[in-house]
Amino acid sequence: MRLIFIGPPGSGKGTQAKRLAARYGDPHIATGDMLREAVADDTALGREAAPIMASGALVPDDLMIGIIKDRLAKPDAQRGFILDGFPRTVVQAEKLDTIVDSGPHGPGNGSDPLRVLQLLVPDDVLVKRTVLRRSCPECGAIYHLESAPPQKDMVCDRDGAALIHRPDDNEESVRKRLEAFHRQTLPVATYYKAKGIVREVDGVGPLDEVFERIEKSLA
Ligand SMILES: [Zn+2]
Repeated sequence: MRLIFIGPPGSGKGTQAKRLAARYGDPHIATGDMLREAVADDTALGREAAPIMASGALVPDDLMIGIIKDRLAKPDAQRGFILDGFPRTVVQAEKLDTIVDSGPHGPGNGSDPLRVLQLLVPDDVLVKRTVLRRSCPECGAIYHLESAPPQKDMVCDRDGAALIHRPDDNEESVRKRLEAFHRQTLPVATYYKAKGIVREVDGVGPLDEVFERIEKSLA
């Protein structure tokens, strides 16, 4: 499937996109993870993006578009993909159209049509969720102290690594990210709604229930 996942920061979008990718065998392309890896590996891209990300601002369009174009050209993305965190602006969405249209994902090659899934979660729910979020620095697993706690206190279920509270998961950064999301990414949803390819899914509730809703909406 060729799917764009849209959802506010902290909506569970990444977790759900990963599950969907595992279910359908398409690569989960998460620009946030790609950027964090670049920063951790101290690549040229990482050095460019690090101060921008630390300030809570969005990484510039041309930088993001370059990353996505390279990623979609890789063999594993030729049959389908699940995009998570891209496009974040209408400029990025327009650019993605040209990449998808001109590349191997163009119409008539047997691929599924491009679809958009939008997870809906109110801001206040998101602030609470994000502040209570903990993640594994080893495998990237995400936990939530209330709704999805690890079995052992502050330790990853999979590999036993000590969980961390990401420095950008405090309330001020969350509000800043939500503001950027409303200002820049909601117009992206509007852009795709005009094409009639958006499915909206209620993102409030347990992960399994939300996943069922997502699968139903895509069936
Ligand atoms: Zn882990």
